[in-house]
Amino acid sequence: ARYSKEDILRLVKELDVKFIRLQFTDILGTLKNVAITSEQLEKALDNKCMFDGSSIEGFVRIEESDMYLAPDPNSFAVFPWRPQPGRVARLICDVLNPDGTPFSGDPRYVLKRALKKAADMGYDKFNVGPECEFFLFLTDSEGKPTIKTHDNAGYFDLGPVDLGEDARRNICLALEEMGFEIEASHHEVAPGQHEIDFKYQDALTTADNVMTFKMVVKTMAQRNGLHATFMPKPIFGINGSGMHTNVSLYKDGKNAFYDENDPLKLSQEAYWFIGGIIKHIKAITAITNPLVNSYKRLVPDYEAPVYIAWSARNRSPLIRIPAAKGEATRLELRSPDPSCNPYLAFAVILAAGLDGIKNKIQPPPPTDKNIFRMSREERMKEGIDSLPASLEEAINEMEKSELVRETLGEHILTKYIEAKRKEWEDYRTKITPWEIEHYLTKY
Ligand code: GLN
Ligand code: MG
Ligand code: MG
Ligand code: MG
Repeated sequence: ARYSKEDILRLVKELDVKFIRLQFTDILGTLKNVAITSEQLEKALDNKCMFDGSSIEGFVRIEESDMYLAPDPNSFAVFPWRPQPGRVARLICDVLNPDGTPFSGDPRYVLKRALKKAADMGYDKFNVGPECEFFLFLTDSEGKPTIKTHDNAGYFDLGPVDLGEDARRNICLALEEMGFEIEASHHEVAPGQHEIDFKYQDALTTADNVMTFKMVVKTMAQRNGLHATFMPKPIFGINGSGMHTNVSLYKDGKNAFYDENDPLKLSQEAYWFIGGIIKHIKAITAITNPLVNSYKRLVPDYEAPVYIAWSARNRSPLIRIPAAKGEATRLELRSPDPSCNPYLAFAVILAAGLDGIKNKIQPPPPTDKNIFRMSREERMKEGIDSLPASLEEAINEMEKSELVRETLGEHILTKYIEAKRKEWEDYRTKITPWEIEHYLTKY
């Protein structure tokens, strides 16, 4: 551990921190927080900070709504955009039942439980490196977000073509002040679209980092007069935003996915892990791609995956093997989008891969052709299936899956499906501009 309870108390004094936000994430991936003053911190560090869980999405029923927050001292960070005096820091928390046991509706606990299973199989580390994409949009005269972008730049373009460059620079500086190691940041393919990559860490730290990242991007964009969105497909006809997820398993301090004798430098475990993901991908897609809108990104021609295949060569499939080898050997899962709950997403990805290892699931041969250019018949002949085409299809797949049930637990699975079915139903019954355009005058 980086910090002890005493360290936190000392740091708060030294840095003149006045407010501490105790943060946690709800089932649907929204960051929640309770602010306390530094006077209350000692109590909070002893897990004595109670809150009413009944109003949090998918948490508990009214009769049993008292929950406790257990701050993780290692997550201590100061918000760089809040100046002294009145400095603000945050601590990411586990959610506990009144008797001190972990609350089964806490996504952070779901990931911890999945990591424990990996550890029991000898995999002491599951490293995850996400590539988060997002759009920066202009706001109108009332400060409301629009879907207009300022720039006409594209992939890796150089400024000063747009306002977004300045915002992205400030985002990176704020992230670094909060302890992030930024490996790359660049303009993405679409106008107004950006990507910032921070260094991989163990899955729990990375999930915490994804939550922090989204908060920092939104905050700094707003301070630059822009609106940042992680909505997967805000505009038809141009690329959407993904969260490519790079994963590797470690055993005895060594990358278990690397084997120098294999033509692709992949170990047997890596192949089985791919096999497991391919087997379970339909069932976990409702977690990695949780919105009605997520499925408008997973369509041909916008660099997002549609078909269930893997490759070391091209970028159209679901799983790609990046060229880096040795300790950097990893798999890149390209379907997740940044609207997902990262704790739940990393937990189901890990569980799917481990199931592949446990049951020695051989993946199909790699697909090195451009699948988007293959006809339906060719894909059928090669046995290439598709990802769920809608949130509804994804929920139906998820509901059938024993693996997902086990990984999320009954509480989260039930609440999640309930919420997502409602979301789908709400969308399904609305009349869209497309229908008016196509039917109003014709019929
Ligand atoms: N934006 C693309 C997606 O939706 C990815 C583009 C890229 O990183 N090459 O996944
Ligand atoms: Mg990238
Ligand atoms: Mg990208
Ligand atoms: Mg990538």
